Amino acid sequence: MASQISTRQTAASDQFDRPLRDLRISVTDRCNFRCPYCMPAEIYGERYEFLPRDELLTFEEIARLTGIFVDLGVTKARLTGGEPLIRADVTRLIRMLTPFNALADLTMTTNGYLLARFAQELKEAGLGRITVSLDSLDDEVFRSMNGRNFDTAPVLEGIAAAEKAGFSPIKINAVVQKGVNDHTIVDLARHFKGTGHIVRFIEFMDVGTLNHWNMSQVMPAAEIVRMICEEMPIEPVEPNYKGEVARRWRYVDGDGEIGIIASVSEPFCGACTRARLSTDGRLVTCLFAAGGTDLRGPMRGGADDDELKKLIAGVWSDRRDRYSMDRSTLGDGDGATRSRIEMYQIGG
Ligand code: SF4
Repeated sequence: MASQISTRQTAASDQFDRPLRDLRISVTDRCNFRCPYCMPAEIYGERYEFLPRDELLTFEEIARLTGIFVDLGVTKARLTGGEPLIRADVTRLIRMLTPFNALADLTMTTNGYLLARFAQELKEAGLGRITVSLDSLDDEVFRSMNGRNFDTAPVLEGIAAAEKAGFSPIKINAVVQKGVNDHTIVDLARHFKGTGHIVRFIEFMDVGTLNHWNMSQVMPAAEIVRMICEEMPIEPVEPNYKGEVARRWRYVDGDGEIGIIASVSEPFCGACTRARLSTDGRLVTCLFAAGGTDLRGPMRGGADDDELKKLIAGVWSDRRDRYSMDRSTLGDGDGATRSRIEMYQIGG
């Protein structure tokens, strides 16, 4: 097992001089929601066969690989899915990751539906931060966007429980889809204004191959800012660190801030330091990648840590991904038909 004391040798930077700093870990490909932009219900029905258990990375394998990534320079790990709280006993995994001294930031993205039940346990296990996906406060809109007719109440209860457990600020992620929920984003901002929690509006992206993405459905960041500013004036703020995904905007009256993740209108690939570990153990170097490098096979085949480290460092140093920056130079057709790994297998 990679040492939990520092034997760090940072991986070489990639082809655009970006270091490896963040690891997104998909702990399951399953979810209790059926968001049309990620896992449409008409495809992922009751009979859909998700990955069999033996194809999922075990917690021990995830911890071992995380240790190796930490040795290569990773300081932030995010647990995602699918829905990470669906994976049984996920707090055991958190306890296995917290001893990595250099892992300064251990966080999770959840849809919040089960959060009220687990918030205290997650905190006690050592989880540092939590992000909750909540696309709208309007129940009718929310029901259509989660594909399961679930109301917002359980998610809001989850956020309240996480706050009570000591998570603060909590980040609230909302995908903004024109003609679907854009008319409700000001309500969402107003609801969390002054609470200390940070709503982050995400431009609708052409992730995966199933969401019928089209530029006309994208509400650009500038428009989101204009809509919020009309009622609650905001001004830009410097990023907390280089490579921060969300652009920060604070309320002029001092009542906190929001974020905007503008992958389409203001791509940020230039500072992207994110690697992804898919549910079945592939190293994926971009959210829009068509494939990844299998780590599970070599690991189960007896590769030692140094061999795995060389493999990961090699993939990273060859990395040339910058899809969002290139998107605009791609023809509409080309962009839409590219093969891509589905988002629920690698975490957003
Ligand atoms: S599109 Fe790929 S390279 Fe660009 S920011 Fe997203 S994950 Fe990074």
